[in-house]
Amino acid sequence: MSTNGYAEDLLQLVEEGTSPFHVVSSVERQLRAGGFQQLYMEQDWSLNNGGSYYVIHHGSSLVAFTVGKAFQFGDVFRVAAAHTDFPGLRVKPAPEITKDGYRQLNVEVYGGAILNTWLDRPLSAAGRVVLRGEKVFEPRIRLVDFRKPFLTIPNLAIHINRDVNKGVELNKQTDMLPVLGLCGEEEEKEEFFRKCLARELQVEPEEILEYELGLYNTDTGDFLGLSEEFISSPRLDNLTSVQAITTGLLSGARDRGINVAAFFDHEEIGSRTKQGAGSVLLSAVLERILLSYGRGREKLLESFSKSMLLSVDVGHGLHPNKADKNDPTNKDVLGKGICIKEASGQSYATDSEAVAIVQQLCEAEQIPYQKFVNRSDGTSGGTLGSIASTLFPVRTVDIGVPLLAMHSSRELMGTADQESLVRVVKAFYSWEQ
Ligand SMILES: [Zn+2]
Repeated sequence: MSTNGYAEDLLQLVEEGTSPFHVVSSVERQLRAGGFQQLYMEQDWSLNNGGSYYVIHHGSSLVAFTVGKAFQFGDVFRVAAAHTDFPGLRVKPAPEITKDGYRQLNVEVYGGAILNTWLDRPLSAAGRVVLRGEKVFEPRIRLVDFRKPFLTIPNLAIHINRDVNKGVELNKQTDMLPVLGLCGEEEEKEEFFRKCLARELQVEPEEILEYELGLYNTDTGDFLGLSEEFISSPRLDNLTSVQAITTGLLSGARDRGINVAAFFDHEEIGSRTKQGAGSVLLSAVLERILLSYGRGREKLLESFSKSMLLSVDVGHGLHPNKADKNDPTNKDVLGKGICIKEASGQSYATDSEAVAIVQQLCEAEQIPYQKFVNRSDGTSGGTLGSIASTLFPVRTVDIGVPLLAMHSSRELMGTADQESLVRVVKAFYSWEQ
């Protein structure tokens, strides 16, 4: 595949993955096309050597795995993990606001979004909606994506906000409310968003009980730079990693052992939920795999010493206008390879054995890589690697593509880095030892 081919796969996921539920659905589509078979937590599993499987957990998390053709007990797990969520705005219950001739939506901020990048954008909404079912404990679940832009959060004109270029604090409750129309017919005033949602789903408004809906930037991704060196797109954090792991799992194969792709929700709010990397989901799926082969917990515990976790999430690339924000001796430049992220405080898993393994894979496959550490007098956030490894205590390393404008509604990465990331994940899944 060409460098731009890897990038096109990524931009396809950006287009389809407009909510964590839609990210899972897009990954599922790719896995099914690759011959993966769906398993369900509530059913017995019957697995075969050489088989490919996936399980979806509460709609926004997914674990997929392949069993080596010559799998035997004692073989180890190689797990690559990424997150399906991204910062943005979420629609509250009873969100309709009618004020001064405008219709607006009441929203809350999800994760650490750069708020001003959400102003003056064409926005749409996507997520899941839960409808009344015949049985109380089995409501119906539908995914919804309006696809077309229909909301925006207008900036205040500079003429009445003279200090805007000195930096303006945005209030999360009062300054981030999108407009989606003008007041019209009297009967349309009540519950206008619920009615609009019902029309989109072709159901009665009374059938809608609850939803998890986010607003998303409808911009498509673009190649930028004189030689298309950059990709500028919404949701690169962390769809770069989701796509790299999906492609890696579909194309990498070992005869021995089990390759696993774990996609968790809720990383942007701390991971400690039933769909997050802080849940027992991953270790439960791994135990179920071994149980289906007739051996369970003992074999899982035995696998801890030789298994490995590759936590894949974006890193902070060096910003040319703010170069002093990065570490003085470890500088990650866009397009120059994946970054291996380390932090002695373990916000990134710093495990020299796991780092050394990734370095050897990169060197053997001629994949460019760089190291990232924080400035000692700064912080830069963390990711799911250390959290997931508390429940699956194996050798762990954090890697990802370097990014600029992380958590903006539009982020920037190096085009070549997507190919590097796919190749390192594929090598992780392919090398026998
Ligand atoms: Zn991330």
